[in-house]
Amino acid sequence: MNLSKVHQSLVGEAQFRHVQAEQAIFRDLVDTWELVTNFPKDLRARLQKDCPLVIEAELMSSADKSTSKALITLEDGLKIETVLISQNDGRQTVCVSSQVGCPLACEFCATGQNGFSRNLLAAEIVEQVLFWQRYLKKEGLNRVDNVVFMGMGEPLLNYEQVIKALKWLNDPETFNLGARRLSISTVGIPEEIKRLAGEPLQLNLAVSLHFASDLQREHYMPIARKYSLEELMKAVSLYQKKAGRQVMFEYLMIRGINDSDNDAKLLAQLLSGRPLSMVNLIPYNPTGRFLPSTPERVREFKKSLEDLGLKVTKRRSYGGDIAAACGQLAKK
Ligand code: SAH
Repeated sequence: MNLSKVHQSLVGEAQFRHVQAEQAIFRDLVDTWELVTNFPKDLRARLQKDCPLVIEAELMSSADKSTSKALITLEDGLKIETVLISQNDGRQTVCVSSQVGCPLACEFCATGQNGFSRNLLAAEIVEQVLFWQRYLKKEGLNRVDNVVFMGMGEPLLNYEQVIKALKWLNDPETFNLGARRLSISTVGIPEEIKRLAGEPLQLNLAVSLHFASDLQREHYMPIARKYSLEELMKAVSLYQKKAGRQVMFEYLMIRGINDSDNDAKLLAQLLSGRPLSMVNLIPYNPTGRFLPSTPERVREFKKSLEDLGLKVTKRRSYGGDIAAACGQLAKK
C-alpha cells in the first residue's frame, strides 16, 4: 500500500471522490477498493491496480495476547516492525517505527546493531497505525488510543516526515488522536528538540537518557560523543519552558552498568531543579550483551531517586517473548 498515491490517482475526479476515498480508508477501514461501492466499477478497478490498499505484513502475538508485532514489507521490499500493546484497562497503544533501521548504534539496542537503511515517509508511518486499526476492527476491539514513536529509528532525525505523520494522526478526519495521545521518544538531538519546542502540536516528549554522566553515555551511545549532556539538558530546558510540557527521561536498568546508588545520585543531580521532569525506569530487555538489573535493585534505585526528590515510574515490559519489547525490534 502507498497512501500518498491515493490522491494522485484521483486527480481529475470530483473533490467529493477524494473525501469518499479518505472516509473509506480511515473510517470504514477497507483494505480493498472493491468494498468502496459508492465508487463506479471502473474507478474501483483502476484504483485497485494503481494504489492497492493491502498492507503486506507478517503478524505475531505474545503468549498472553497483550502484545502483537507486525513485520511490514514496504513498497521497495524493505521491512519495518510495529507493535500493538493492549493494556489491561482496554487501552490500545501502537508503537511505530520512524526509520528503516537506525543510524544511532546504541550498544544495548538490537535495532541500532543492524544498521540504517532509510527514513520512512509520513505515509509509511501512518500506514502502521492503519494496519492496527484494521486489525482491532476485525478482532472486535477498541480503536487505537495512543501512538508512541518508540519503534525502530530516531524520529528527530526524520523530522519533517514525523511531524507530517503526527499532524495526520491528529487530524479529526483521519485518526483524530489528540496530541496528548501522541508521544515521541528521542535519543536527544539538541537542535531538533529546540525546533520541536516551536511546534504548535502539544505532544509528549520522552528522552532516552539512560546514563547521567557523559563518560558513560559516550561509551554506550555514540551520539553522546557529538552532544554533551549539558547541551542536551539546555535544549530540554528550553522545550520545557517554551512548550510548558513535562518531559519524561527514560532510564534503562542494566545490571552493574548504570544501576548503582552512585548512578542514582548522579541522575538526581542532573535532574534537580527541573520541576517538569520525571524518570521512567525501563527494564533492560535482553539483546545479547548485557543483563537486566534485578527487580530488587530496580526497586532500591527507584526508592533512592524518590528520596532525592524525583518523580519516578517503572515501565512494564510487554512482548519480550516475541522480541517486540523496547530495543528488540529489527529488520529481521
Ligand atoms: N531512537 C529513539 C526512539 C527509540 S525508542 C530513542 O532513542 O528514544 C526505544 C526505546 O527503547 C529507547 O528509549 C531506547 O533507548 C530503549 N531501548 C533500547 N534498547 C533497549 C533494551 N535492550 N531494553 C529496553 N529498552 C531499550
